[in-house]
Amino acid sequence: MESLVSVLSPATCVVCQSSVETLGCGVVCRPCWQRITRLDGILCDRCGYSFASRNLPAEKALCAACRRGDFHFDFARSYGRLEDPLQAIIHQFKYGSHASLARPLARLLHALWVQSCQDRDADMIVPVPLHKARRKERGFNQAWLLARHLSRWTQIPLKDKVLVRYRATAVQAGLSRGQRRRNIQGAFRVVDRAAVRKRTVLLVDDVFTTGATLNECARMLRKQGANRVDVLTVARVVAWSV
Ligand SMILES: [Zn+2]
Ligand SMILES: [Zn+2]
Repeated sequence: MESLVSVLSPATCVVCQSSVETLGCGVVCRPCWQRITRLDGILCDRCGYSFASRNLPAEKALCAACRRGDFHFDFARSYGRLEDPLQAIIHQFKYGSHASLARPLARLLHALWVQSCQDRDADMIVPVPLHKARRKERGFNQAWLLARHLSRWTQIPLKDKVLVRYRATAVQAGLSRGQRRRNIQGAFRVVDRAAVRKRTVLLVDDVFTTGATLNECARMLRKQGANRVDVLTVARVVAWSV
C-alpha cells in the first residue's frame, strides 16, 4: 500500500526538495543529478589527489603522500569531489535509507573505470566491509551495493567474503589524518588468503576521505599476498592537504 501511495503522489527530490513529476535517478531530480561534475585538473598519478594550481608538482605528478610512500594501494581514482550535489546524494544513500541510489552511483563508478582506468585490470572486486553492527543499523553496506553493480557491468567477480571488518571503529569524521590511521589499524582481516594471493584487487567504497580506511584494507590485502590493490570511489574529499 505504501508503495502505491508513493507512486501516485508527486515525487520529492531528496537533494533540493523540489517536487517533480519524474525523477532522473530514483529519488534525485534530473537537474540535481546533472550538476554532478567530474574531479578534474591535474591528478596525482598514483592516488588521484587533485593538485591545486599553487602546488603543482615540478616533474613527476606524485603528491607528497605518495612520495612519502604512505599508501599501500597502487592506484586510486574517484568520480567527483565530495561536494554538493554529490555529497548530499551520498548522504541520502547512506543515512537516508535510499538504497535505490546504489545503481545510479555505481554508474558513475563504471564510467570512471571505463574512462580513467583503461590500463588497469582486476581479478576481483572487493567492497570495503562494514562491521556487522553498523550494517545492521544501516540495513546495508553501501560499498557492497556499489561493488555488486560494478561487478555485474564489468564482469569482474565480486569477492565479498575475503576481507572482513571484525572491529567496529569510532566514527572517523572529525578525526585528524593521524588519528584516523590509528583508529582504523587492525580493524580488518583477510579471511581467505588463497583467494587474494598473487591476485589483483579492485577495492570499492563510496568516499575517499583521507584514504585511511582504504589504505588499511589495502595493507591487509597486500600483507596476505595480493599482487596489487587499486581503489575506486564515487567521491573524494579534496580539501586534505598532503
Ligand atoms: Zn533536485
Ligand atoms: Zn598521491
